[in-house]
Amino acid sequence: MRDRQRIDPTQFLRDWSSPLAKFNSALIEHYTGYAGGRFLPSAGKSTFKVIDPASQEILAELPSFGGSETSAAVESAVPVLEDPAPLETRARWLTEIARAHVDNRDELGRIVTLENGKPLAEAKGEIDYAAAFYRDAAQRLDVLRPRKLKERPKGLDWTVYSRPAGVAGLITPWNFPVAMLAKKLSGAIAAGAPAVVKPAEKTPLSCIALFHLLHRLGLPPGMVNLVFGDAPAIGRVLCEHPAVRVLSFTGSTAVGKLLSAQAAPHLKRMSLELGGNAPFIVFDDADLDLAADQLMTSKFRATGQTCVCANRVFVQDSIAAAFTDRVVERVRALQVGHGLEEGVTVGPLIDLAAFQKVSSLVDDALGAGAQALTGGRTPPPAPDKGCFFPPTVLTGVRKGMRILGEEAFGPTVPIARFTEESEIVRIANDTEYGLAAYVFTRDPARAERVISRLRFGHVGLNSGTGPTPEAPFGGMKHSGLGREGGEEGLLEYVELQTVPHP
Ligand code: ADP
Repeated sequence: MRDRQRIDPTQFLRDWSSPLAKFNSALIEHYTGYAGGRFLPSAGKSTFKVIDPASQEILAELPSFGGSETSAAVESAVPVLEDPAPLETRARWLTEIARAHVDNRDELGRIVTLENGKPLAEAKGEIDYAAAFYRDAAQRLDVLRPRKLKERPKGLDWTVYSRPAGVAGLITPWNFPVAMLAKKLSGAIAAGAPAVVKPAEKTPLSCIALFHLLHRLGLPPGMVNLVFGDAPAIGRVLCEHPAVRVLSFTGSTAVGKLLSAQAAPHLKRMSLELGGNAPFIVFDDADLDLAADQLMTSKFRATGQTCVCANRVFVQDSIAAAFTDRVVERVRALQVGHGLEEGVTVGPLIDLAAFQKVSSLVDDALGAGAQALTGGRTPPPAPDKGCFFPPTVLTGVRKGMRILGEEAFGPTVPIARFTEESEIVRIANDTEYGLAAYVFTRDPARAERVISRLRFGHVGLNSGTGPTPEAPFGGMKHSGLGREGGEEGLLEYVELQTVPHP
């Protein structure tokens, strides 16, 4: 180990003078929701605040909408279903939406950085990533063309039609406010299904900006609708309204289960992308530099606040010290700060609750005998300071420590050792989650043996890469239902209809 000295975590708690006097965006004229082709009146509504997590500055105060606006939004979407747009029109819309993202990358990225905290380069990357979902969906519409059956069952001609399933309720989280919407909305628009979108109240501004861009594209009134404010009231309408046939949600497992229970009596189709507890497994024959580099991208994207990011790192005994060295060196090179500042690579956590969660997991591990090689225990931020937690590498992590069992959603790298291949598969699977996992080995036979036994929907082999628009992505077990991306992502919003005829 090159340098085991701990650095003072408080060095990260710098005093961020606000980079802006008051939030303002050339993209946003109406700080409100949208339904039936119009921005919603907001006079007299109660309000909620959107906060810059890096400075705690109030960015905006928005009207809070609830059940009645959500019902009205759903009803404004219903007429769209009577006359679904032809596939060529949907392809044009999707292409134009992709272009609107790219043309406004800088401003959309700036808004994401301000409301979410992630570094600007990452935020702009998110906008391009989101655009790719719309572009990819536009090129995939042939799967929705009517299909004739070759076998002519019962001597009849049969045609299989892909009909829009109904109004789609889309509930998105704050960690990728633009990309998570893109994954859902691209599928809904491709299928011809109108959507009612509810972004996270922590990060609604990029979504409002996007709706201004959608408004200019001249989609049919009711095709895309936006509500936010009282999440439980909005969620209840999306679960119960008979016109909503698909509910797509990305967020915590607890809320996903609640929505499933609420929607069950109404037999909605659910698409759920929930929590993860990704194991990152490094075998003794792995390329250690590659594994360390990939761990960095997987782990520190969005300050570790992604459901696919490595949550538990398992390293085979003989290479544990060499791998840990490489990780510590890279983690120490990270720059923590306000995402709009040049050179910053790690932003703040989203809020104090997130800080407290990460803090308590680190404290628990240290109290039970783990050591912090960099980062570690950190005092809570003052109320007017961002919730910065120092990137932390822990060794000596063992079974029973909470940090291996819970999703940290923060910049923590807990490193645990293992000896046997069979043992690590069992340990990795010992979680209720099954979203992402990562395996590093140069042995193809070992890779096949291990991956086929892992119960995770996405397994990176010698790669820390996450989802891509081209491939279906989703979880096993309590990590969710359904898939986003690829052909499968479109089919979530389609209802099949078979028509036999002479
Ligand atoms: P997190 O804990 O990471 O904020 P949540 O699951 O609470 O994750 O949030 C994900 C999304 O779910 C957000 O848009 C949030 O507003 C929404 N949400 C939270 N509670 C409910 C609820 N009871 N009904 C519908 N949506 C909800």
